[in-house]
Amino acid sequence: MCFGGEQRSGKEGLCKMTSPIVETVDLYRCCVCRARYDDEEDARKCCHCPKCGQRRERAWCHPCADKEHEAREKADFDKAKKIALGDYEGEYVNVDGLGRHFANGADEGGYLAVDALDDAWAPEDRPAYVWGVQPMPAPSFDLSEEIQRDLESEYHESVIENVISGGPEIEQAQTLIKKALARGINGFETDRTVAVLLPKR
Ligand SMILES: [Zn+2]
Ligand SMILES: [Zn+2]
Repeated sequence: MCFGGEQRSGKEGLCKMTSPIVETVDLYRCCVCRARYDDEEDARKCCHCPKCGQRRERAWCHPCADKEHEAREKADFDKAKKIALGDYEGEYVNVDGLGRHFANGADEGGYLAVDALDDAWAPEDRPAYVWGVQPMPAPSFDLSEEIQRDLESEYHESVIENVISGGPEIEQAQTLIKKALARGINGFETDRTVAVLLPKR
């Protein structure tokens, strides 16, 4: 039915007016907060978790998020290389989300000095393992490659070859560049391929 205000005409009963003034639409309403949605599915998941169907207070569902976290931890741990704390050479570990309570001495990213592990939890709160941590890799830059890329559209291969390998300068410069790039190592990243097993106490 057309509410556009003009008589319908034509075989298919199409309205003459291209844009009607009023249209009927299906709306769905969330029974908790009464918000309206065009899509039934959107209304269903407004205040209820789409996975478990439970009422949720926030954008995420606590029980489901906990379950996902647990499953991810277990999968990563199963795959990881396990090393005893005594054999771990890093200075830091990551304890984010591990142990029954927040670890004393850990920063907000969960990074904790190995020396501080002993005092991090009460014995009953202690997790069975923590994640390894590696220094961030230095940025890389290959001078010969860059020269090659820069010159190859204009110069003959033999010219480039001469520039790069004709004398010791490029190699010397690369050594200096490498030294400068090493300064770019600042910070750590969690290495979830290494699980450091903590001794029982
Ligand atoms: Zn709602
Ligand atoms: Zn849920």
